[in-house]
Amino acid sequence: MDPILGDAAYWQNLAAEQEAGTRDDYIAYFYARAVQNKQRGEAEGWPVFDEVAYVRVLVPGDRNNVVDRKADEADRERWANTLTTLLNRAYGDGPDRFPVKVGPLAKDYSHQRFPDDPVTLVRGDSLPGFEGALCRAPSHRRGWGIVYNKAVGSQGRINFTLAHEFGHYLLHRRDHPDGIKCSPQDMVRWDSEYRQTEQQANMFAATLLMPLDDFRCQIGPRAKPTLDDIGGCADRYDVSLTAATLRWLEYTKRRSVLVLSRDGFILWSRSSSHALKTGAFFRTANVPPVAIPEISLPMKPDCSSGKATAAHDADVWLPEPCEEVSLISDRYDFAISLLHLDDVPHRDEIAEEPEEDAYDCMTNRTLGSSWLK
Ligand SMILES: [Zn+2]
Repeated sequence: MDPILGDAAYWQNLAAEQEAGTRDDYIAYFYARAVQNKQRGEAEGWPVFDEVAYVRVLVPGDRNNVVDRKADEADRERWANTLTTLLNRAYGDGPDRFPVKVGPLAKDYSHQRFPDDPVTLVRGDSLPGFEGALCRAPSHRRGWGIVYNKAVGSQGRINFTLAHEFGHYLLHRRDHPDGIKCSPQDMVRWDSEYRQTEQQANMFAATLLMPLDDFRCQIGPRAKPTLDDIGGCADRYDVSLTAATLRWLEYTKRRSVLVLSRDGFILWSRSSSHALKTGAFFRTANVPPVAIPEISLPMKPDCSSGKATAAHDADVWLPEPCEEVSLISDRYDFAISLLHLDDVPHRDEIAEEPEEDAYDCMTNRTLGSSWLK
């Protein structure tokens, strides 16, 4: 049976189950399409292609009715929100709600939803140079394995990796029948300019492990968290400090910038939306390597492990003063600096509408219909 299109009985079952309201969420799959970027091509003098995420939606009961369109943010978070709804129903506010136990969840859910193609194995293995992998089972067995690098010493990193690979299983396995291997950098690049499949797996993992409605209750949108505050969330969700910081940056109203560097140069950086809107960001794409300041924390020999903070004058990191918090304890092979800037009044803040979080957005929609827009 074609795993995407299915046979007649498969579609009849789907239609019956969707009508009964018991299934709605697995009839879409993601793939990458190369789309020519004429503007950049003209600027650079040769054809340039962007990798754009598409979603193909197959309507149950009508195999000729196929919607094929660009994927949007809501699509990408849909799987994680479906699982979040299930976990909220199962655990409520009880002590077992967090952290999400990804291994058992991946096995149980995939066996229930995809009995012909489930996750059958979750374990640590030797994966030099990689953080994790989604592997197809050997030919005489069915299903998929989620493997993490057992040499990684941080439990939080491992848990995030499991969720990231589970995301690849749900979103990408049909497009990558031989599986996917993921580097440490793949886990921490959450920006859309990075590879689409990795960014989608990270968004899935972040949404599953750290629902925004819960995170906002731990650290308010206007609070200026200490390293211990973010560390408390990293413990609650069983993720690395880096992952918890990236998630916090997605909703905070503060002006803060995260910078990852190696050997004195910025690898990449991510600003909160308020920092970005007010010009506090580092441009690292398509420019020569950007050096970090001589007096920044990663450049200090005694800061090679543990946590530290420093207050910097204007024109050290940015044209304005900042407070640097160094997050070196995740044991990545790059240094991580969080820069807190002062709030500045910004005209957008006055007219700003309260933001709906992704979870609210999803539950407000009619299940099943949002794929087909
Ligand atoms: Zn990956």
